[in-house]
Amino acid sequence: MENSEDGTRVSLGIPALPSASPSGSGTPVPDMPGHRGLLDTFGRRATDLRVSLIDKCNLRCTYCMPADGMAWLPKNRLMSIEEIRRLVGLGVHELGVRELRLTGGEPLVRADLVDIIAALRSDHPELPISMTSNAVGLAAKAQALRDAGLSRVNVSLDSIHQETFAALTRRDSLHQVMEGIEAAARVGLAPLKLNAVLLRGVNDEQAPELLSWALENGYELRFIEQMPLDADHIWRREKLVTAAQTRELISQHYELGPDPRQRDGAPAERFTVRSRVSGELLGTVGIIASVTEPFCSDCRRTRLTAEGKVMSCLFSREEFDLLGALRDGADDAELVRRWQEAMWQKPKAHGMGHVGLGAPDFVQPDRSMSAIGG
Ligand code: SAM
Ligand code: SF4
Repeated sequence: MENSEDGTRVSLGIPALPSASPSGSGTPVPDMPGHRGLLDTFGRRATDLRVSLIDKCNLRCTYCMPADGMAWLPKNRLMSIEEIRRLVGLGVHELGVRELRLTGGEPLVRADLVDIIAALRSDHPELPISMTSNAVGLAAKAQALRDAGLSRVNVSLDSIHQETFAALTRRDSLHQVMEGIEAAARVGLAPLKLNAVLLRGVNDEQAPELLSWALENGYELRFIEQMPLDADHIWRREKLVTAAQTRELISQHYELGPDPRQRDGAPAERFTVRSRVSGELLGTVGIIASVTEPFCSDCRRTRLTAEGKVMSCLFSREEFDLLGALRDGADDAELVRRWQEAMWQKPKAHGMGHVGLGAPDFVQPDRSMSAIGG
């Protein structure tokens, strides 16, 4: 099967089924041929697995969660260690998964996190296993996580100012986050990447300062465009700090240039950062332009929510209950088939770039980012 350069659906030489359609496309999905791997009808192959370990979190970032009133999954609906092991094992051995990221909610909130990582590492000695975390509580666990086999960590940090941080996260936890970042770097959870979401009038003007701080400490900062995945539905296209505006903000202080390294399916477009005065190369910065410059055509991600549902895209409106099937006694072949089927229906693109631009076809998913696993 060939990858379709223009993003049109791959031709399989078989008749299309009139029944199913990828979310929102209204176009019938062709029958799934026998194949290995997590292919979709547009020829993309998912090799990057994101597993959410828990929907709970100890922060309440305004662009993600509501201030209160979030209903948590009961513990018995979360995937257990053994269930995670089995599904990740199928992903790696049967479906071509080459990279694993643990996320949430906040993975550090899960009491058996170290055991989960140790089990996955013992099953997959060579697999890159990373974690996305807000770093609250990381200082106490960094060494144990490293010893258990965690490869590296991405930490979310939107501001290095206590007041701004507290306004954004609705918690006064910056100090703990800083301790967590330092501990992660100290124990070698590297390269340490930082994720920042810029909100207009809140932390956007701090972008150059945040970058300076990251460069001085040897962390790779990535700015992520705010996506319409917040529980409060406050996202507005006209308030978005776009990738272009982020580049402009940073360029007032630094000279940005193209990073010669291959992007290779990475969501972030990387830029070299040089001093405007001396021209000295100071490091790199990434910009993840999910809304205005989407990278759907090269997406390699497949997601499992904390309750074991496959999501082929952050914006999928269809979910496939893999854990339910597992608990009902499905054998490996059946679980593999279901996972493939879920990915086969992955939509061509999320369509959110057009929200507020006269294309009303985008519908915000019911799940917020914390309940999907970013
Ligand atoms: N709690 C962990 C954390 O914050 O790093 C892991 C889960 S969090 C959902 C994963 C990433 O999603 C974070 O980097 C966060 O900044 C990002 N995120 C959450 N809501 C977002 C939104 N509406 N738009 C863009 N990024 C978002
Ligand atoms: Fe929690 Fe991460 Fe969402 Fe912030 S972005 S509320 S830290 S899950």
